[in-house]
Amino acid sequence: PHGDIHAEVVVLGAGPGGYTAAFRAADLGKKVILIERYPSLGGVCLNVGCIPSKALLHVAKVITEAKDAEHQGIVFGKPKITLDKLRAWKESVIGKLTKGLKALAKKRKVEVIQGTGQFSTNHMIQVETPTGTKTVSFDYCIIAAGSSVARIPGFPYDDPRIIDSTGALKLEEIPKRMLIIGGGIIGLEMATVYDALGCKISVVELMEQLIPGADADLIQPLYKRIKKRYEAIYLKTKVTAIEAKKTGLKVTFSGENAPEPQTYDRILMAVGRRPNGHDIGAENIGIHVNERGYIQVDQQLRTNIPHIFGIGDIVGEPMLAHKATHEGKLAAEIIAGHKVVFDARTIPSVAYTDPEIAWMGLTENAAKQQGIDYEKVTFPWAASGRAIAMAREEGMTHLLLDKNTRHILGASIVGVNAGELISETVLALEMGADMEDISLTIHPHPTLSETILFAAEIAEGSITDLY
Ligand code: FAD
Repeated sequence: PHGDIHAEVVVLGAGPGGYTAAFRAADLGKKVILIERYPSLGGVCLNVGCIPSKALLHVAKVITEAKDAEHQGIVFGKPKITLDKLRAWKESVIGKLTKGLKALAKKRKVEVIQGTGQFSTNHMIQVETPTGTKTVSFDYCIIAAGSSVARIPGFPYDDPRIIDSTGALKLEEIPKRMLIIGGGIIGLEMATVYDALGCKISVVELMEQLIPGADADLIQPLYKRIKKRYEAIYLKTKVTAIEAKKTGLKVTFSGENAPEPQTYDRILMAVGRRPNGHDIGAENIGIHVNERGYIQVDQQLRTNIPHIFGIGDIVGEPMLAHKATHEGKLAAEIIAGHKVVFDARTIPSVAYTDPEIAWMGLTENAAKQQGIDYEKVTFPWAASGRAIAMAREEGMTHLLLDKNTRHILGASIVGVNAGELISETVLALEMGADMEDISLTIHPHPTLSETILFAAEIAEGSITDLY
């Protein structure tokens, strides 16, 4: 049975996964409908995630570098921040990209329907649009409905002084004193922004280390730098109560490092994201959604209903835009009959903090747990001419290699631009490079990318003394 409209491929959700899937399916000749509840395309990443956070992090970098230039004899004075202008600029960055997406959709004749979709049968989605209900029938569907901010229950969220990442990116004001609950990537990126803008930052994290997924030695240089800049970092500490008072938000902590109760102007809740699997009527038609809200898919991104696919944050960790886009492309190609599966060797992770932290492949923790016979080589940026010339020699480049085959197994970099630098190691892993391949590859001098070369040379024994 056909609905009001029929498409060969319907994509539910227009984030990086969804728009990539829709565009690829259209390029492969399919008639595509893209359903999105918000008026602008781009999902979390473009509107309230990756892009606005990086726009603000750029500004943070300008402010901190200008200040740090004092050590090189250049004094700019205290920055004057015009919040309205900063906000407008950030909006213009988002605007350029979402406008671009709209044009790309139009060019491919992808029909965009604005509204909230729910499955009604396994060939039909019902969409609540601003002008009434529409039914859309499909041959194939790609679920790309993403994730939402997670909350710890029991805190007074109706108080506007408790914000989440979306609220933090709005940049309504610069609070004097802010507590960030959650020392993961999103919390620490926002800390970087608000610290540069002049807010006193405290971070509280339940685990014993910031960014718990990464190796401890990778976090150290970041920890050392921000410990000096921030008011406090409480590890292995739990927030047990938040009381909304007229004078501020009174927070009670527990744990061995817990301070006395403290009062803050703002609290940023950054305790993770939850997949939207329970919010799209997937269970109505028998799609397997697990307890946490993830939709289960196989290596071809198929749900248990073979003509319905799932991609991006809604199908599992890591919740990253580049995973979503890769999966989106793949799902569209599979629908078009290509014989492909998800076969990436790794999905790199980056925290765009200051310094940045990036890692890919096996972490040392995972290698130990799996009993892998590995070797780890480290090149300290204190021996990199470029890092010294940038006055940022706290960085480190680590490579993890298989002791027997000498092949690269993983890499992790902390330092400015680590997020850009990590890609080379991802390519090396995808291509099965060994330490000799990397060490015989001529890298431009003087660059930070050389630190990867130098680490491989250390592994090969062709550099023994760093000076
Ligand atoms: P989403 O981007 O979540 O898009 C899903 C879309 O589906 C949304 O537009 C939603 O409105 C729509 N939708 C949901 N349900 C329905 C429905 N029933 N009907 C119609 N539409 C619906 N990742 C990175 O890789 N790099 C970063 O630097 C980075 N920074 C981030 C910073 C922040 C502050 C946040 C919050 C996230 C960040 N992420 C980053 C994560 C990244 O945003 C996500 O991994 C990515 O957006 C996931 O893409 P997606 O397509 O799966 O889903």
